[in-house]
Amino acid sequence: MFSNRTSIASVLESFHVDDRMLAYNNFVARLYNWCLSMGFMPGKIMPARAFCSDESQGFPIILLAKHFGAFPFNHGRLGGIISLDRHGPHADHGRDLVLIQASHVGYDPDSAEFGVYRRLHTQDESNSCNCGKIGNIIEWYRTGYQYARENVRLLRHGDTPALLIDNQLLSRNRTEGIFLVADRLIEGVVRHNHLPPPLAARSTGMVYAAANSLVERLGAATWPTQGSVQIGPRLVADDFFFVREFVNPDISKDQLESNILPAMPWILTCKHPLLAAARANTIAEFDRAYRSLTQSPKVRGKNMLFLAGLNIDISPYPGENFPLTKFMPWAAYLQREDGSRELLEQDELIERLAAQPADNPSQLALDKAIATMVRHRDVRVRL
Ligand SMILES: [Zn+2]
Repeated sequence: MFSNRTSIASVLESFHVDDRMLAYNNFVARLYNWCLSMGFMPGKIMPARAFCSDESQGFPIILLAKHFGAFPFNHGRLGGIISLDRHGPHADHGRDLVLIQASHVGYDPDSAEFGVYRRLHTQDESNSCNCGKIGNIIEWYRTGYQYARENVRLLRHGDTPALLIDNQLLSRNRTEGIFLVADRLIEGVVRHNHLPPPLAARSTGMVYAAANSLVERLGAATWPTQGSVQIGPRLVADDFFFVREFVNPDISKDQLESNILPAMPWILTCKHPLLAAARANTIAEFDRAYRSLTQSPKVRGKNMLFLAGLNIDISPYPGENFPLTKFMPWAAYLQREDGSRELLEQDELIERLAAQPADNPSQLALDKAIATMVRHRDVRVRL
């Protein structure tokens, strides 16, 4: 999905997470009304969701059931990955189709921190990582980045600003790990990252002249007159990348990690890593599923709206049963039964939703619907 390093940063930046995010009930009501305005048939729309398996995703699912009058088809896997092989079954279950993909990220309103969520059902109602799947994936990369920050050191070789770089970071015989973008750091690198001769060899690393552009970027005064200092946070996203070997025989199990792998340097170096990772995942999943939906014969000739975004799980306070989830739309793909197709970028998508009424008089009264099933229906199962 991410074609090159320059495009990664600009695509990530183009997914705005701002005050245009919608409270979930408001979002789903507008979504339902938008579907009706396009000729989707009330009572014949099968919603589907590709959400993570977290309990925090339950509230959005309940609201989808309430507004569309049908429990949403499960079109996803852990981490908000879309199961591309489920387009057919989803299409078989409704005249018209809606599919919502959302990666999710927790938010603690007290500390304004992204990536955590209060688990009210734990003994001490503690905060934990959210999305936990993304948090788990990031840990390996965070360790690699930390190692590089500590083991690329600034020092002087005579008067020359230089870098002492750990041999492991320089090794080309690795199949995975963190790799430096050598020409941004070392002077005299030629094409294909071919390193010049070092100025000196140390027991566990090599000393190279620092790239002129690096000296300009950091300022010559950053180099100590004696000893060495770690490069630390001055090692920015453009300075490194990761290679990861995926060995799982079921490649779909590594989909989330391979989605966010190219964006990992930007994820690790930004203010809210789990928010950035969820954003990168949604961007990649929308692109991946869009391509498969346009090719799916089962979906052809049907009304279908596919919409991707972020579920922001605002931690509940004691006494509340659900998160105050908000939705930040990213993009949508619309196809109609007459064969016409439309792609909507973030701003257009938000405008379309905003143009719809935020109430839905035909939404299901869930308690009443459940009571009807409990009280009045008793069907004997004949064997
Ligand atoms: Zn999750």
